[in-house]
Amino acid sequence: MRTDGGLTHIKYDHYYYPRIIELKCPNCRNYARAINETVPNEIEYFMDIARFGKIWNFKCVSCIKEYEINWSEIQKIDLWYKIQVRNETVWSWNAKHLDLIIKRLKSENIKNHSWAFFATYINKKWLEKIKKKSDIQKLENYLIGKIKK
Ligand SMILES: [Zn+2]
Repeated sequence: MRTDGGLTHIKYDHYYYPRIIELKCPNCRNYARAINETVPNEIEYFMDIARFGKIWNFKCVSCIKEYEINWSEIQKIDLWYKIQVRNETVWSWNAKHLDLIIKRLKSENIKNHSWAFFATYINKKWLEKIKKKSDIQKLENYLIGKIKK
């Protein structure tokens, strides 16, 4: 994943892929999830060169849509976590990824975070522009409000 700009994940080059991607169902706009079942549960993300298949199982609990989806198809679907803060579109693959972004913005210790590796890839503009407590609070409230178990 490159670090330079872009409004959404679509503009990034990917060398790492998340196992779970939380999405907005293109059919009913409710919460959906794409899980790469070839990747073991305990792995949060995997590298391009890993021999895992790049096929995810898309599943929407609301309209019961379920199908296989590849990486380029996933990129056409809206992410579940996407919010405007300071004219920046802050997005994440999933709740844990957003949690990492928030902790990084708060300058918390993220060394032991399961997504710590991705800290390097956080959009530099977010780090520059999102510093105010109220902005970070907005992100925290957003995560709490949107999170799905
Ligand atoms: Zn749906």
